[in-house]
Amino acid sequence: MQPCGRFAPSPSGRMHLGNVLCALLAWLSVRARGGRFLLRIEDLDPERCPRALADLIEDDLRWLGLDWDAGGAASGETYYQSSRTAVYETYYETLARKAEVYPCFCSRAALHAASAPHLSDGRVLYAGTCYGLSPAETAEKRRSRCPAARIHVPDETVSFVDGVQGAYSENLAAECGDFILRRSDGVFAYQLAVTVDDGLMGVTEVVRGRDLLESTARQIWMHRLLGFEPPQYFHIPLLLDYDGRRLSKRDDDLDLGMLRERFPPEQVVGALAYAAGLAGSPAPVRAADLVTGFDWAKVPKTDLYLPNVFRQL
Ligand code: GLU
Repeated sequence: MQPCGRFAPSPSGRMHLGNVLCALLAWLSVRARGGRFLLRIEDLDPERCPRALADLIEDDLRWLGLDWDAGGAASGETYYQSSRTAVYETYYETLARKAEVYPCFCSRAALHAASAPHLSDGRVLYAGTCYGLSPAETAEKRRSRCPAARIHVPDETVSFVDGVQGAYSENLAAECGDFILRRSDGVFAYQLAVTVDDGLMGVTEVVRGRDLLESTARQIWMHRLLGFEPPQYFHIPLLLDYDGRRLSKRDDDLDLGMLRERFPPEQVVGALAYAAGLAGSPAPVRAADLVTGFDWAKVPKTDLYLPNVFRQL
């Protein structure tokens, strides 16, 4: 099967250097093996993700020298998650047949109460409060609150080998807990949408920040329930600011709007390639010139510091 990779940005802001690193590595990985590259716009929450920002991401990718074979505006609505609700509905029904999906009335405050079980990384493990409500209790609660939909996970350990982080295992019941498939406002959750889309779009490799490593076990579990072959995962290091803080979309001082005014694309690509172990120096380079020497073994798993050239900004 031809390798297929994807870049799946949520256009809630302009791309920052961390997003650029992710797009670059995803593109190099698949281009180095002659594969297809997709651009999927993860705008499940259309209010936070206006189309104009998605268009800017396309423009920024072109500026960086990264191309794609399908997706974005040229493919119509197919690769915008905001247009795929009917697709998610179908797969949601399948999941509800294969596992237990139940209404959850818990408020955000209740979920984060001090008594809620917290995992070592700060995430809250769902305590199962609404699992097993009787039909009468459910009907009563529905009168005052619209429920979210949660899926019950089994006491099952999912293991996989991440292409960057190595062997990883997670027990779904103990380390993930029952999770949301659809929010109380009807919007499908990222976990469902990303699994369905990667499965249906034939994605064979997923490259993304290591902050999403803990989402992977449940996605693999859903891939299997839905009859998809799970992709291979590569969770890349995060880019840290000088003070050790990770870059975020709020740091608009380092977004591509500003970077494009000050640097040519080859300098941005060269500095990131050097930081990621793919080039011997931070000299300017075109993305296309990195394809031949690309090797995941060169990419470190520990977080990366912002390249020097961007530090004086
Ligand atoms: N849309 C997600 C983000 O921009 C990425 C999801 C993924 O790659 O699985 O953070």
